[in-house]
Amino acid sequence: MRTAADALGRLVRDVPDFPEPGIVFKDITPLLADPDGFAAVVAELAAAGRDPDGQVVVDKVVGMEARGFIFAAPVAMALGVGFVPVRKAGKLPRETHAVSYALEYGEATLEVHRDGIAAGDRVLLVDDVLATGGTVAATRDLVAACGGETVGVAVLMELLFLPGRQTAGDVPVTALLGI
Ligand code: AMP
Repeated sequence: MRTAADALGRLVRDVPDFPEPGIVFKDITPLLADPDGFAAVVAELAAAGRDPDGQVVVDKVVGMEARGFIFAAPVAMALGVGFVPVRKAGKLPRETHAVSYALEYGEATLEVHRDGIAAGDRVLLVDDVLATGGTVAATRDLVAACGGETVGVAVLMELLFLPGRQTAGDVPVTALLGI
């Protein structure tokens, strides 16, 4: 059986200069096409939602559009809790909270349904890559706006030359692979 770190090492491709010069894009599509590797990664991400005795300690799993959805949904099912999508502006049909944040060039806005997270919910954030941490910080603000508490962040890969972990502040970050 394949471990998550082994799967990530074999099945994530580096694509230089995508989507713009200087960025090395982490292409996860070979991992998604490998059922054993995909399952191993989901199982390890889901461990971030359990205590050392294996008890589930989160009420919701949030995934950030778009690649976060692919992992957050099966993690939520593995933990037996609800999945909540955080989407780019204008995609969610009901009342939302919105947070704008700076990108390298320009600005992005993320939204969550106001009734997606209940007051007091303990929330695990799941995404593929932690880079500058801007996406995680904005999502944490959205969870807080709903009255929830972000209790963990779980990602496949953390880019260690960027300050993503510091941006997450005091929230524990689980990265299956540091690069
Ligand atoms: P950041 O907000 O800077 O932490 O960026 C994280 C978001 O951008 C995640 O949703 C990732 O999917 C995406 N991302 C950032 N850097 C990369 C990269 N090198 N390869 C693939 N996705 C990335």
